Amino acid sequence: MLDYHIHTTLCGHASGSMEEYIEFALTQPLREIGFSDHLPMIKWAHPEYAMPFEKLLEYVQRVLALRQTYPQLPIKLGIEADYYSPAEEAATRSLLAQHPFDYVYGSVHFVEDWAIDDPHNLDQWERVGVDTVYELYFAQLQKAARSGLFDIVTHTDLPKKFGHRPTKDFSALIETTIRSYKDAGMVVEINTSGLRKPVKEMYPAIEILKLLKKYEIPLVFGSDAHAPDQVGRDFAQARQMAQACGFTEIAVFEQRKIVDTYPL
Ligand SMILES: [Zn+2]
Ligand SMILES: [Zn+2]
Repeated sequence: MLDYHIHTTLCGHASGSMEEYIEFALTQPLREIGFSDHLPMIKWAHPEYAMPFEKLLEYVQRVLALRQTYPQLPIKLGIEADYYSPAEEAATRSLLAQHPFDYVYGSVHFVEDWAIDDPHNLDQWERVGVDTVYELYFAQLQKAARSGLFDIVTHTDLPKKFGHRPTKDFSALIETTIRSYKDAGMVVEINTSGLRKPVKEMYPAIEILKLLKKYEIPLVFGSDAHAPDQVGRDFAQARQMAQACGFTEIAVFEQRKIVDTYPL
């Protein structure tokens, strides 16, 4: 098993030192881990959402140095990058090209100009309406896939975080979105952090996971740890769900390519 989704205090909303995340990982049945903190935000300044630009180099250097400190555990250099709109694609591409990332998570947190996963924005959900948020969100994900900027889709059904459920049937939209991942050669993450949120479900839901299997889209696993003891959290359950859907392996990334697989 591997955990590719680990944050650091640089993003402004996580706790614990990077060493503490690694020390906890060493107590878990993990063959490798990866840090994937929030890339500085290109479109707007949100110090509580992502690391500032002046911290990106420090982040990269610290992860690379930790590889020397912990030779017993492979540590990958990942990043979680937001998709905003076509206008920010070139700047995102050039920022990502400046560092030797092993993988780039593509995430959509924003529709219009507000973060759907921020509990301070529940009134925006009221204003826009649940169905419209879902529509906007999946349209953004398709654009993110088509941009070619990202290797892995994270928390693919994030709008369910607070328990918001659409009234319309979105299965066709979701399948089209999954096809866009396939066309872009993207991998999808099983992200266990949803179990720690009001929805109390992993991202993605099992119905989506079955579709990912239908399209033979590879998987990685991430805890989205924002505290050291969240590393590898609920992975036994995640593995069971993946196996129930027919998955047998996990993708291993290096320098933005799948270089190997581990048995699930
Ligand atoms: Zn995220
Ligand atoms: Zn994250």
